[in-house]
Amino acid sequence: MKLRLHLSRVMHPVTVIVFPSSCRLCGRALEDPKEKIICTRCLDRVEVHHGPVCPICGRFYHQPAAAGHPCGHCLERPEPFSRHRSLGPYSGRLKEIILLFKYKGCEVLSQPLAAMVYEHLASDGFFDGLDFIVPVPLHRKREKQRGFNQAELLGRALSDLSGVPLLPGILIKVRNTPAQVSLEAAEREMNLRTAFTVSKAGKINGRTALLVDDVFTTGSTLRECAAELRRAGAREVRALTLARAV
Ligand SMILES: [Zn+2]
Ligand SMILES: [Zn+2]
Repeated sequence: MKLRLHLSRVMHPVTVIVFPSSCRLCGRALEDPKEKIICTRCLDRVEVHHGPVCPICGRFYHQPAAAGHPCGHCLERPEPFSRHRSLGPYSGRLKEIILLFKYKGCEVLSQPLAAMVYEHLASDGFFDGLDFIVPVPLHRKREKQRGFNQAELLGRALSDLSGVPLLPGILIKVRNTPAQVSLEAAEREMNLRTAFTVSKAGKINGRTALLVDDVFTTGSTLRECAAELRRAGAREVRALTLARAV
């Protein structure tokens, strides 16, 4: 009894205040339990592209008159995906959040990131008519090193938001290619050729898939994955990334 009394004094709530964690971007204390890693104010300040885009590849246009017209690249070379969309440019706060998500152990950020991109695109009917979501795969060795596949975490969060089922493991990276970051555009395409394969073509045949990845750099990864899904019989492949570098 004595011991219990003693403990209750020691453990008085005032003495066990847990220091609130702070936002990794601005340093403000995270007061709302729903805020994880980043505060709501920083999330609200992500630079989302609200202007017109290329209706196929999603390139950001800065001239309102360009709205509705495919860009020169898409006119020159048809894409294996019907349309690709991103939240905004790969810079500023969005880039910082993606880097925390991918490399700093902040996997929980898949949820606010997916929520932002879902909110941005759902009203345009981007998720309508989809049969399933396919994350861009990592090679199993790379996934083991990192401990997770960022595209799969995003795909799962988007599946929860949209109700479109996630199909992980349908697209497999069979060749562990050198990191794309270090390569020029033409080398990237060569690097990825035959790197991906579809495991169960029967599931894809005649269906509409949404490919999900974190960043669109040159588009070569999405292009190879979409082409592989189309070869396996997919009727349509759309693509979504958080940010676009070009
Ligand atoms: Zn903040
Ligand atoms: Zn385009």
